[in-house]
Amino acid sequence: MPSDPTPQTPATVPCPTCGKPVQWHATPTRPFCSERCRIEDQAAWAEERYRMPSEDTPDMDEELGGGGNGNRGDA
Ligand SMILES: [Zn+2]
Repeated sequence: MPSDPTPQTPATVPCPTCGKPVQWHATPTRPFCSERCRIEDQAAWAEERYRMPSEDTPDMDEELGGGGNGNRGDA
């Protein structure tokens, strides 16, 4: 039975922004492949925060008004 030389930690991880493989131990901008991807990701986050809806009511009272039998189109 040959021993598997598989490393426990992945050498590369997919860049969250572009999906490119990032060398984890050799990339200071990890988990992003480059500074540009990091900035892009942060910009996306900031944009999302800005677009946060303030007049949206939380769905804490979800009522599903439906019939017990969902049989329709039954010939
Ligand atoms: Zn990237």
